[in-house]
Amino acid sequence: MLGHLRFPVARSRGRKYPELHHPYRNEFQRDRDRIVHARAFRRLEDKTQVFASGISDHFRNRLTHTIEVAQIARTVASVLDLDVDLTETLALAHDFGHPPFAHAGEKELDSQMRRFGESFEHNLHALRLVERFEQRYARFPGLNLTFEVREGIVKHSRDLTPGQSLELDQYLPESRPPLEAQLIDLADEVAYNTADLDDAFEAGLISMPMIAAAVPAYAELFEAVETQYPGAHERVQFLESLRLLIDLLVTGLIEGTATAARVAGAGGVEDVCAHRSRLAGYNERAAATTRELKRFLHANVYDSVALREDRARSRAMIAELFEWFLADPDRMPEPHSSLARREPAHRVVCDYIAAMTDGFFRRCYDRKS
Ligand code: MG
Repeated sequence: MLGHLRFPVARSRGRKYPELHHPYRNEFQRDRDRIVHARAFRRLEDKTQVFASGISDHFRNRLTHTIEVAQIARTVASVLDLDVDLTETLALAHDFGHPPFAHAGEKELDSQMRRFGESFEHNLHALRLVERFEQRYARFPGLNLTFEVREGIVKHSRDLTPGQSLELDQYLPESRPPLEAQLIDLADEVAYNTADLDDAFEAGLISMPMIAAAVPAYAELFEAVETQYPGAHERVQFLESLRLLIDLLVTGLIEGTATAARVAGAGGVEDVCAHRSRLAGYNERAAATTRELKRFLHANVYDSVALREDRARSRAMIAELFEWFLADPDRMPEPHSSLARREPAHRVVCDYIAAMTDGFFRRCYDRKS
C-alpha cells in the first residue's frame, strides 16, 4: 500500500562504530535482536504499566505491554508495506526509558531534576541506556544501534526543536521521523487504551455498560456481541467486545495513515520526513473513539482513588531515595558512585533510579530504613 514510503534498510546512515555486515540478518534485524537481548528489555518485566503487580497475575507489566505494542505495530507496518523489522525494533524499545512506578516515577524524577534546572524525559533516558549503560561489546559502549533506531527512540512520541541540545541536534530535529517510527506512538496508544480497559475490568473498576455510555463506537460493538452471544459469560462477552475495539482502532490507524499519505502526495521517504506534520494517524472514527476512551479511562481508572493513592506513595518513596543517594553518592554501587565524582551527582542518581525495576527499587528503599 505504502511501499514507496518504506524506509529502505540499505539507506541507513549506519552505526557510530562501523561493523561488518552479518551474513543473513540485515541491520534493522540485528538491532531488533540487540534490543531483545539487552538488560533493559528484561527489566521491563518488573516495571509497572498502570496497575501494580501483586493484586492480579493478569495485569500488564511493561514487558507484556511492549509485546502487545510490537504485535499491533507489526500488523500495521505489514499491511501498509512498511519496514516491519524497523517498526518492531522501535516498538520493543519504546518503553526502555521508563523508570519504576510508571508515570508517578517519571513525574517525580522530573520534579527532582527541576530543582537543578534540568529535567527527566524517558525517551532521552532510553537513548542514554542504549548508548552508554548497556555494556556487552568489547569494542564500543552501548548497543551501537543504527541511526534510524536511535532517531526513532528519541522521536517516536514527539518532534524535536532545533537547538534543544547538542546531543539531540544529531537527530535531524527539523524533520519528521520515517513512518515506521511515527506508527509507534499510535500503536502504543491502541495497546494501552484497550489493555487498560481489560485490566480495569479485571480490577472491578469498570463494566461494559459504563464504557458503552461514554464511548458510542464501543456501545455498538457491545450490542453486537450481546446479540451474537447472549448466553456467554460476562467476561467472555467483554473480551469479544475488546477484540472488536482493537480491530476498529488498528483498522482506523491503517486507513488514516494511508489517506494522509495520499492527500499529502508523498512520493518517497524524503517527503514523509519533510512534511510539516506527521502522516501517521487515525481515520475520524478511530480518532474520536480514542479521545472518548482516554476521557473515560482518566475519569474511571487513572484518577480513581486507588490509583491516585498508589501514585502519591510511589512519588514520596522516589523522592526519599533520591535524597538519600544524593546525600552520599557512595551509597550507590560502582560504577555509579565513581561517576558521581566526575559528573553532576543529581544526574547520576537520576540515571541510577530510572533504570531500576520496581522490585529492585523496593529492596533499595527497605535497606535504607
Ligand atoms: Mg508504552
